Amino acid sequence: MAKIIDGKEISRIIREELKEKTEELKKNGIIPALAVIQVGDNPASTVYVNNKKKACAEIGIESLSFHLPEDISEEELLSKIRELNDDPKVKGILVQLPLPSHISEDLVIETISPEKDVDGFHPVSVGKLLIGQKGFVSCTPAGVIELLKRSGIGIAGKECVILGRSNIVGKPMAVLMLRENATVTVAHSKTADLKEVCKRADILIVAIGKPKFLTAEYVKEGATVIDVGINRDENGKLCGDVDFQDVIDHVSAITPVPGGVGPMTITMLMNNCIEAVSL
Ligand code: NDP
Repeated sequence: MAKIIDGKEISRIIREELKEKTEELKKNGIIPALAVIQVGDNPASTVYVNNKKKACAEIGIESLSFHLPEDISEEELLSKIRELNDDPKVKGILVQLPLPSHISEDLVIETISPEKDVDGFHPVSVGKLLIGQKGFVSCTPAGVIELLKRSGIGIAGKECVILGRSNIVGKPMAVLMLRENATVTVAHSKTADLKEVCKRADILIVAIGKPKFLTAEYVKEGATVIDVGINRDENGKLCGDVDFQDVIDHVSAITPVPGGVGPMTITMLMNNCIEAVSL
């Protein structure tokens, strides 16, 4: 019987721990504060931003909200970020992506001070992660590590295959698994013999953005499967990159979608906001 890794419950436990940490900080007069910038009115971004603000309120982090017009110039946005960089009250800065096409996301990310880069996307944060220095870690991969550890799934010495090599999931995930002493393979759309590569994995982490792509043919008997994907199926229902029903009898543990990796991302963002006060 496969273990279903309950991301909602693990997330709830971590949030309780984070609440205790903010209460401790407040006793010492320190209030973590996150600045959240949204540009334009993309409905998905509005949902994400509201969820982040709600999580801040739940944990005791102050959130400062900046809703800027769609047609704001790149320079105006950058100058807002510089202002927040210089504001000692603001400990973390988050710019909700995607941005309108006239604004360079790379430039925006690079303008956020690395000391306040709670998303972990700044090249300095990424570099620190790579060479094992303390810094902010991208929230979704950090959440996957917590899910594995808190579910009692050993990582050291395991064969780990990561399917997907994006900057926000696949690549940092590979570095984190390496840091935890797994033997890591990163597969992608040009990988030859993908099924055979995936079948090597004791831990298979899938982040490709293709609904129900991964079937039992890709999975070694008894593997742990972590499904990062968030997609809509042909009926508009939320689903992952893994065909859950097809693989369930072949795995020893698996994350569901929804309720697996998803809830961890904002929770790890909250964790980064609290870490920001000690940087
Ligand atoms: P990207 O589109 O940035 O990257 C997709 C990666 O998957 C690429 O490296 C691509 O390879 C690879 N890929 C695509 N198709 C195939 C294929 N058929 N076979 C092998 N590899 C393939 O996606 P993200 O990393 O941003 O997101 C991936 C998924 O995770 C999405 O569903 C997204 O919604 C979800 N997500 C969930 C989060 C959460 O909080 N749970 C947070 C972030 C993302 P190549 O490089 O060769 O093109």
